[in-house]
Amino acid sequence: MSDAPKRITLEQWDLQYEKLRVAGAFQPYYGGPLSRHLKDGDQRLLKLRYDNSAAALRLWNFLLTEKNRLREARAEGKRIVGTMKDLGTVPVMAYSFDNVVAFYPDGAWWIPCVMELSAGLLEIADSLGIDESFCPVRAMLGAFVTGAHFPLPDMLVCSVGATCDDFSAIAQRLEGLGHPILWWEMPHRRNPEPDETAVTLPGGFSAPKRQVEFVQSELERVKTALEELTGERLDAEKLSAGIKKANQVRRCLSELRHLAFTAQRCPVPALEMLIAEMLAIHFCSDRRETIAVLGELLDEAKARVQASVGVLDVDAARIFWVNPVADLQVMNLLEDCGGRICGTEYLFSHALDEIPEDLPPLEALAQMALADPMAGSSIDRAERICADIKMYGAEAVLISRIPGASHCALEGQVIAEIVQEKFDIPVVEIEVPPVTDSMRPTVRTRLEALVETVEARRRVAPK
Ligand code: SF4
Repeated sequence: MSDAPKRITLEQWDLQYEKLRVAGAFQPYYGGPLSRHLKDGDQRLLKLRYDNSAAALRLWNFLLTEKNRLREARAEGKRIVGTMKDLGTVPVMAYSFDNVVAFYPDGAWWIPCVMELSAGLLEIADSLGIDESFCPVRAMLGAFVTGAHFPLPDMLVCSVGATCDDFSAIAQRLEGLGHPILWWEMPHRRNPEPDETAVTLPGGFSAPKRQVEFVQSELERVKTALEELTGERLDAEKLSAGIKKANQVRRCLSELRHLAFTAQRCPVPALEMLIAEMLAIHFCSDRRETIAVLGELLDEAKARVQASVGVLDVDAARIFWVNPVADLQVMNLLEDCGGRICGTEYLFSHALDEIPEDLPPLEALAQMALADPMAGSSIDRAERICADIKMYGAEAVLISRIPGASHCALEGQVIAEIVQEKFDIPVVEIEVPPVTDSMRPTVRTRLEALVETVEARRRVAPK
């Protein structure tokens, strides 16, 4: 275990880095002081608070060097595949090839935050007719135009159908700009009719077998296209091996989440946990290193729990968080206000569930794709959130609305009603833009009020 756990500033991290270096701590090839990333324009780093462990340093350095990794992959002659929207399915297939690196161009939606709007990506999207009535994923368009944030992929794959209007429109605009896309269809997940064979999907949702078969046929098309791109055949054995590796990541994350959400003292802060969860989607362009990074973070969390130490007060209010925040600083803010994360649904719970290993691999991937919480009704999503609230013992729910996101207009209300009906716990909805500076006092007040409500309820009905 590192020093006494605490959250520190970027400046303090430079001193801590020096200490670790002198002590001979292991540094991966992408290691180094965190503040060097400021040179890339990542100014938001100056305003964040970080966990002080060597494991967290490795996590951050891994995240912030993805662009370099993609460029190196290109230089080594690997094929780069931009996978869009499905969040966690096609990358499992892509990384089963020997010579493919997959990443999500959608991840550009955090660039306006990390670079504090200085990259001009949203303005470029504006100029292309994709204005602020769309969610921040529109930054992806700007990233394709400038070519400054990731190498242009050799192939683009995007799921369509049961996806949000925002993404469909933005991806279509991207294709119109001359970036061909292989579209594959994701049907809206529905409950099986009485005369249909039902399948229970990873995570617990149910779907008719015929929908699983349809998605499987769509994924078969994607597989064929990847085989043509690479000149390599992906047989069932190779794909099964890829699924096993993905499950290694998912099992590690599951253990980490369980510790972070249930330990008496929270061992890993909300911000690092958000990043750790994101690694499951596409392994941050290096699957092997993802396993190592998460393994080290899990070891640190275990050591802290064993020593009964953590980063937050023991009585921090236990908050379930719905949707990822466009401004990462808000995860710090929750903790500054006396809260801790006890459960999350960041739009990609299906990427955290283990993929069945006892099925033909393409069928297993099809089941996983259909388990996407966003591919079914908001009621389904709310039910899954309820199951996790119960499992982690959350005392309140925070729904962070994504500006412009088509699904956020009503979905928050549906989730809030179902949660309150089941648990009678407070639910608050806030909107989080990519940079919250001007509305920070308002967001803080809402978070403080939620924490105070939890504390007041504890006084009335102590556990
Ligand atoms: S609207 Fe929501 S689901 Fe769609 S791209 Fe934006 S954040 Fe993702």
